[in-house]
Amino acid sequence: MKCRKCNGELVVKRMCRRVRLQCKSCNHEYQIHEVAADLDEKTSAILEQYTTIIYD
Ligand SMILES: [Zn+2]
Repeated sequence: MKCRKCNGELVVKRMCRRVRLQCKSCNHEYQIHEVAADLDEKTSAILEQYTTIIYD
């Protein structure tokens, strides 16, 4: 999963009941719905572990 701004790696970050993807390089945070169309298998598998994801 790559950042759209800098092509850095996005990591799943859990904050309370919300989940975000954050870029390791520029620290930009994406909401799940922003990148939903681009989710790769690895990232999807991680997200599936969270049963309380709020897609806000
Ligand atoms: Zn970035």
